[in-house]
Amino acid sequence: MPHDIKTEQIPIIREDEIHSLIQKTEKPPQARVKSILAKALELKGLDLEESSCLLNIRDENLLEELFQTALQVKEQIYGNRLVLFAPLYVSNYCSNNCLYCGFRKDNREMKRKILTIEEIKEEVKIILGQGHKRILMLMGEHPGRCAFDYFLEAVRAVYSVQSGQSSIRRINVEIAPLTLDEFKELKQVKIGTYTVFQETYHYETYKKMHPTGIKADYWWRLTAMDRAQQSGIDDVGIGALFGLYDYRFEVLAMFQHAAYLDKTYGTGPHTISIPRLEPAQNAPVALNPPYPVSDMDFKKLVAVIRVSVPYTGMILSTRESAELRQELLNLGVSQISAGSRTNPGGYREGMTNPEDEEQFTVNDTRSTGEVIKDVIRQGFVPSFCTGCYRMGRTGMDFMDLAKPGLIKSFCLPNALLTLKEYLIDYGDDETRSLGDALIERELPDIPTQTTLTETKARLQRIENGERDIYF
Ligand code: SAM
Ligand code: SF4
Repeated sequence: MPHDIKTEQIPIIREDEIHSLIQKTEKPPQARVKSILAKALELKGLDLEESSCLLNIRDENLLEELFQTALQVKEQIYGNRLVLFAPLYVSNYCSNNCLYCGFRKDNREMKRKILTIEEIKEEVKIILGQGHKRILMLMGEHPGRCAFDYFLEAVRAVYSVQSGQSSIRRINVEIAPLTLDEFKELKQVKIGTYTVFQETYHYETYKKMHPTGIKADYWWRLTAMDRAQQSGIDDVGIGALFGLYDYRFEVLAMFQHAAYLDKTYGTGPHTISIPRLEPAQNAPVALNPPYPVSDMDFKKLVAVIRVSVPYTGMILSTRESAELRQELLNLGVSQISAGSRTNPGGYREGMTNPEDEEQFTVNDTRSTGEVIKDVIRQGFVPSFCTGCYRMGRTGMDFMDLAKPGLIKSFCLPNALLTLKEYLIDYGDDETRSLGDALIERELPDIPTQTTLTETKARLQRIENGERDIYF
């Protein structure tokens, strides 16, 4: 596999530095933690040593202070909106053998499936029927069975579906790393964010977990974001799969990766994802994680990410239970999936026993409608907004807006407008009355009088039947 860029010599991830920081900050003194938390409230982020101190907190009272700080940081930057999306798996063929994944080549019991373009359109209609406007498209890596050209056609097909007044407005993509030329083609079909998880940043563990296939090449994966950026895709998402190695190492390595991207391309990752290992069919590592992460440690790492890189969105999937997801919203998560299926074709009604088709077990099995109702009850504003991407506020432009907190002036009004659409088109009576009350409560938080007046006018236009109006 040819590399488009030669970065083996660039120390993107400095393992020795991470290990020594974790050791050095093993028992952070209370006063030190308190001063770091005070600094975090300035919303300028933290350096690696400070983040390492926070990751090493064990004292319950200090943990509580960390959680409170994360909540404050989140509220100041993102307000209480929460972006929703649905994943769409188009194929579960895979030529790799990741030891934790149900799609791995050696899982002979997996029923392999690649959706036809017609089947993809059917799935999209069901997803649209749940009220979604934003999807994340995924597939296994199998150049023979699900080639890149097929994926491009699939993306075009998804955008082409019109169901009533509704269509998918933003497609994010999570597929295996591409070449520079392939990334350029991906940009042309107008994707939103390109995401790929390094899984583990720890080189030795990576080698063990990915014994064969294209994915066995650590560098090819680590430099995917470089090729994406060089092709003009300036919204990228990174992540680590928690449970493969020490979570403190993975979080600090993600920060190193983020800092490298920021320094090299002028913009850090748009999002950080925090998948945690779930059971998967015939996947030995998923059933018995080498470094299991407890719920408390998971909450801690979410809070540390929030205060360390405050302007980077954080994505949580349905891998986690409904109860834990509700807690994590208060610690800094800004995007969640809802109503997910991780098997190709899984949205079709009547699907039963998909264990032999799905990638891993979904824990939050609530429908999209139930998630939305619960989110509103918790006081968060479910948002289907795709405004920034469609107005070209991506990459550096997005960061320029996000950093001084200006994003709030777009995000909140757009969240309220898309929620209003949802309530009218898909909400049941109870959700509608809860949602309308929430909109009334939120309007006064719109920062300027001009935007408030315009938002009210646009809400009225939506009542009158117009759709897809955004700032
Ligand atoms: N196949 C592509 C790849 O590996 O880059 C696309 C992404 S794959 C469909 C989505 C992600 O699911 C993987 O990157 C991995 O982090 C995650 N995943 C795999 N097995 C998992 C498991 N057992 N529990 C939780 N997440 C898992
Ligand atoms: Fe294939 Fe991705 Fe699963 Fe690995 S994680 S086996 S590459 S689908």
